[in-house]
Amino acid sequence: MDENKLVKEFNNEIDQAFQKAWRSEKGGDENWNGFLNTYGVSPLSNENKEFFLKSEMKITRGAFPIELRGVFEKIIEKYRILQSSSPLLAGAIGNFNMDAKVKEYYQKIKPFTGLGDIFKNAQTGTQKYSTGMQGERQKTMTCKNCGAPRLEEMQYDSCLFCGSKLFEAKGL
Ligand SMILES: [Zn+2]
Repeated sequence: MDENKLVKEFNNEIDQAFQKAWRSEKGGDENWNGFLNTYGVSPLSNENKEFFLKSEMKITRGAFPIELRGVFEKIIEKYRILQSSSPLLAGAIGNFNMDAKVKEYYQKIKPFTGLGDIFKNAQTGTQKYSTGMQGERQKTMTCKNCGAPRLEEMQYDSCLFCGSKLFEAKGL
């Protein structure tokens, strides 16, 4: 197959998944779940969906980022089989930055928080100040990619919200 065509198909499929997730109802819908199913990707459990819908990881529309990541992974898996015969495709797959792409999607579904962020920062500052040393010791793990909190009582290696494996300790 023509190499350019292959790369184009790969990019189109990635883009299609992105658009489909974005057009989905907030937190996913039947149509999106059907789409996930064609890739053999399981949706987030209702319990986790509920958790995120109530958490600070607000979304205004669209499917959850981690579900889109699941589809991206399947697409890459599919094209990886063909990459040995196409350096161009291998390059496209190699250049695909999963965390960045998922974050780009999250930026599109999260509410505008220009003012909210200022309040949040001010609040965090006051909190830190009043709790003093005690606050310093209380560290929370958050996802480096999307900022979702990692719950200690939940055992998992990657972010439940966006799927990134990068966590960082953050003082409250
Ligand atoms: Zn994350």
